[in-house]
Amino acid sequence: MLKKYGWLIWLFVILVIGFTGTSLASFFISKTTLTNTLNEQSLPVLNDSIYAETQRLMLRPNFISGQIASSTVARDWLLNGEEEPEQINQYLKDLKNKNNALTSYLISDQTRHLYNGVGIAKTMNSADPIDNWYFQLRNLKAPYEINFDSDPLTHDPTSFSVNYKVADTNGKLIGIVGLFGIKLNLDNLKGTIDAYQQNFHSNIYFLNKQGDIVFSTAKGNDRHDNISGVNGIKNISAQIVANQKNTATSLEYNADGISHLVSIRNIPDLGWQLVIDKNLDDELKPLVNVLLVNLAVGGVMTLTLMVLAFFTIKKYQNKLEKSATTDTLTNLLNRHAFDFIFQQALLDAERSRQPMCAVLLDIDFFKKINDKQGHQVGDHVLKEIAAIAKRSLRESDVICRWGGEEFLILLKNCTLEKATSIAENLRATIANNDFSRTTDLTRTRLSITVSMGVAECRDSETEDSVFERADQALAQAKENGRNSVYFSE
Ligand code: GH3
Ligand code: MG
Ligand code: MG
Repeated sequence: MLKKYGWLIWLFVILVIGFTGTSLASFFISKTTLTNTLNEQSLPVLNDSIYAETQRLMLRPNFISGQIASSTVARDWLLNGEEEPEQINQYLKDLKNKNNALTSYLISDQTRHLYNGVGIAKTMNSADPIDNWYFQLRNLKAPYEINFDSDPLTHDPTSFSVNYKVADTNGKLIGIVGLFGIKLNLDNLKGTIDAYQQNFHSNIYFLNKQGDIVFSTAKGNDRHDNISGVNGIKNISAQIVANQKNTATSLEYNADGISHLVSIRNIPDLGWQLVIDKNLDDELKPLVNVLLVNLAVGGVMTLTLMVLAFFTIKKYQNKLEKSATTDTLTNLLNRHAFDFIFQQALLDAERSRQPMCAVLLDIDFFKKINDKQGHQVGDHVLKEIAAIAKRSLRESDVICRWGGEEFLILLKNCTLEKATSIAENLRATIANNDFSRTTDLTRTRLSITVSMGVAECRDSETEDSVFERADQALAQAKENGRNSVYFSE
């Protein structure tokens, strides 16, 4: 079975390799193209767009700085010797209220007093590390500093502070005006980012210098968590926090078997990190669907081709098998096939103790027919005799073309007497037949006679022996004038 249909397995393997090979190859090529497009185009462009949006956040701190710069209240009050505290208290209160800040203050560089709008809150001490920030600010080159660092007390990365240097007319530092805890208005930015996130199916995070999430579109990640605690992306959180590049930079990570492409950028003005986390699975889904459809089509094609190939070759095989066992001219069994059937019949007959006879039939003077009427007529006679014999015999009888113009008939469950009578009938039918009636090759009556030898199979007799006895009987018939039936005693 395996030998006969081994080719089917090979065909199956070749088709499966062919179809899955091309499907997988196109899938991986598409996947690579997609990843490259995302990494080199889509993600950097998105990153740039979001970055541009964040620049608007700087408007407010810059506006507040401008407000402080345009007022001379603090400078005049300091230069006048820090007298009449109500004056500065009012100024600081106004500043705080106008900008919705947590506190406002003025530090005098001369007295080191910190005024907080109520009075002197403290005196700055260069030896105290807590006051360090002030002494660092004194060395600042720029006129002001905007600080987005998380307030260590409230741990809120969405507020900022402004410290503005106050100088006398000669440009010498005389103090610092500051606002602390000004809430950033992130509503506009959030709205835009949400739209980006929806269109682009990705999580967007803004982190401060420490990696705390200022805000994010990722569900389930509360603001102010640290990125190092967010599942998946935490794998590359150290790289993200350490990033110093002000241009879009690509990173990748894998979580739960899903690939993620990440685009990051440092926003130096805010001291933030912009992170876009793209789940590649969303993008791959259509490709996977195409792959599955391709595989399904391939599967159906494979099965169809297998079925077609199976039936075509089966038909061809059957034809071959038939042509190996049948004679093409007469459509009778050939000698090779008959041998096998005869052996079986001989065994059956012995087992069932039923008589069985072999009849050898030879056409008389067949050579002459060939010579006189032509080979085609000879062929026609052979076919016609085969047809007559088939018609006159029983279904269970077996007839074969034994040689050129010789036929062998096997009569099962048949005594010698009966077989001789059947043979005699057949002989008479052939002798009375006009062979010209069934052909256009000749118009004149064509009569043919045959001679037959009959032999009954004896117990445990060999095949050759039975045939030999039938042949001897046939020889007798030939010798004694042909057109007759003889049997072996
Ligand atoms: P006999 O009465 O003694 O049997 O004489 P015969 O001429 O029939 O005997 P012989 O054996 O001399 O000739 C048999 C001829 O049968 C010879 C051969 O040309 C012819 N023959 C054998 N096979 C075929 C065949 O397939 N087609 C045709 N047309 N002739 C065949
Ligand atoms: Mg012969
Ligand atoms: Mg002959």
